[in-house]
Amino acid sequence: MAEYKAPLRDMQFVLNEVLHMDAHYQQLPGCEEATPDMVSAILEEGAKFAERVLSPLNQVGDQEGCQFQDGEVKTPTGFKEAYSAFVEGGWPSLAHDPEWGGQGLPESLGIVINEMVGTANWAWSMYPGLSHGAMNTLDAHGTEEQKQTYLTKLVSGEWTGTMCLTEPHCGTDLGMLRTKAEPQADGTYKVTGTKIFISAGEHDLTDNIVHIVLARLPDAPAGTKGISLFIVPKFLPNAAGEAGERNALKCGSIEHKMGIHGNSTCVMNFDGATGFLIGPANKGLNCMFTFMNTARIGTALQGLAHAEWGFQNSLVYAKDRLQMRALSGVKNPDGAADPIIVHPAVRNMLLTQKAFAEGGRALIYFAAQQVDRSALSASAEEKQEAEDLLSLLTPIAKAFLTEVGFESANHGLQVFGGHGYIAEWGMEQNVRDCRISMLYEGTSQIQALDLLGRKILMSQGELLKRFTKMIHKFCQAHEGNAAMEPYTKTLAGLNKEWGELTLKVGMKAMQNREEVGAAAMDYLMYSGYITLAWLWARQVEVAQNALAAGTSEEAFYKAKLATARFYYDRLLPRTKMHADVMLSGADNLLALDSEHFIF
Ligand SMILES: Cc1cc2nc3c(=O)[nH]c(=O)nc-3n(C[C@H](O)[C@H](O)[C@H](O)COP(=O)(O)OP(=O)(O)OC[C@H]3O[C@@H](n4cnc5c(N)ncnc54)[C@H](O)[C@@H]3O)c2cc1C
Repeated sequence: MAEYKAPLRDMQFVLNEVLHMDAHYQQLPGCEEATPDMVSAILEEGAKFAERVLSPLNQVGDQEGCQFQDGEVKTPTGFKEAYSAFVEGGWPSLAHDPEWGGQGLPESLGIVINEMVGTANWAWSMYPGLSHGAMNTLDAHGTEEQKQTYLTKLVSGEWTGTMCLTEPHCGTDLGMLRTKAEPQADGTYKVTGTKIFISAGEHDLTDNIVHIVLARLPDAPAGTKGISLFIVPKFLPNAAGEAGERNALKCGSIEHKMGIHGNSTCVMNFDGATGFLIGPANKGLNCMFTFMNTARIGTALQGLAHAEWGFQNSLVYAKDRLQMRALSGVKNPDGAADPIIVHPAVRNMLLTQKAFAEGGRALIYFAAQQVDRSALSASAEEKQEAEDLLSLLTPIAKAFLTEVGFESANHGLQVFGGHGYIAEWGMEQNVRDCRISMLYEGTSQIQALDLLGRKILMSQGELLKRFTKMIHKFCQAHEGNAAMEPYTKTLAGLNKEWGELTLKVGMKAMQNREEVGAAAMDYLMYSGYITLAWLWARQVEVAQNALAAGTSEEAFYKAKLATARFYYDRLLPRTKMHADVMLSGADNLLALDSEHFIF
């Protein structure tokens, strides 16, 4: 039976030793309560909940799935009880404003808890996960009254939230959406339209669901500039603020899908449902970006989650499964064969998962640190700096980590041989559950366009320059350090090349805009490998110092060094291929016109 154990030691390593979160929390206004002791206690409690309550329901959720009948959705056995325990434990309110019932702890701490919850059971974690985005949107754009009515109920976990963007004819191109919102004399709106693929759109975990819906006002301009944002609750709150009269919306059906069976993916029909405008009219997409940025970091986490889960379970299996002998001679003379972990090919798969999981954790926590700084820093300059960094890193984290997360999940399955392909071990579920992460919250291809087109070229390379300067400073600070040189030399070379490649692609794009689309995906992957290389080098620095100081945890730090070496020797060279491909131009993709593109 597959299991999950929260990697607390590695989490603490990244938080405290690499990113110095203890000092970071003490500097952040309002977060002084997040002392190292308190953070440790919260992580330990989160780990218990993830390991004991959620992990055992992961396979149940996959096998039972959600059941749909007459507009209602029954979640798999145990999901409702687990959600009640989650609410009783105060987990939904952890990183929210005390004014609305939150505990006021930093968002980054919430993200670490989300990692454990999501790795233990991704499908379950999506119910509170979508609420979290809804809360952030309401917090940023809702009126005081809306916050009082809806945010407090979401923060307490009594109600959950959704994100209703997609329609049958539009997913990526939201400018085409048709759901309409007609103003009423009492200041409310009648919302009419069909939304599809709505995660957690209907379920039995709570007695109300707050849908955050994108729709068009009657006189709205065409395209993305004519979209507004609405709160459309399943039950309209009564005078006491509780779920009252049923609103005119219904779940029409749920999807039968490849993975995340425990999470309901709903067709939602709004039939003149009462809605309330959030933020300014026609600025809905801007408001929704608050929601989407949180959701994108949340989805980047999914790549890490499946890499970590696959790694843990395939490592246990690789130490136990006996097949063939090591090429260099017998390693397990008492057994009929050696455990498969002796074989270089198996180690390659294990180390790939470990390098992406641990590197990915450092990237997510680093991004989370920027979320804290952009929200809470006392200095406007620091806030802006953090926001800029986050805006560059979000598409990299979302697309790169889900792409390599999926690769990792596949390696996890492969380590099990044929046993990975059958349901019993959970490895095929891990692959199926992971696959969606590259699609929702903006596909990898759309993230790549966002990175190269909007974030890099539209800022004239300014955002990138600031980030590469950070990497440059890191390398410079270690000049003359022989132990760090194998890392910093390679990193400094790639960092320089990153700027040069950007310039080359930018020049080509000035001649032909299609060059951006043709280069974007390889550019994104290239950027991801370098970003992780920087975070691995930072881990190496800490590990080398700990070993030099005579740590009592030699095995932990030596494993860090071995994994970093593996990353630099065997994964980072993939940048060469991505560089060649991104410079190969758009012609090899566009030479064939659509008419002659035949099968
Ligand atoms: C299980 C599941 C849960 C979901 N949950 C939600 C949810 O809670 N709320 C919600 O609103 N939506 C949700 N979605 C919808 C999801 O966000 C969309 O499916 C996604 O945005 C892609 O839209 P699409 O499916 O219409 O694909 P399309 O937009 O039709 O795209 C098809 C393909 O074309 C590519 N493509 C399109 N335009 C370009 C371009 N300009 N350049 C390069 N490539 C391009 C895409 O990358 C993709 O590969 C969910 C979907 C699923 C399957």
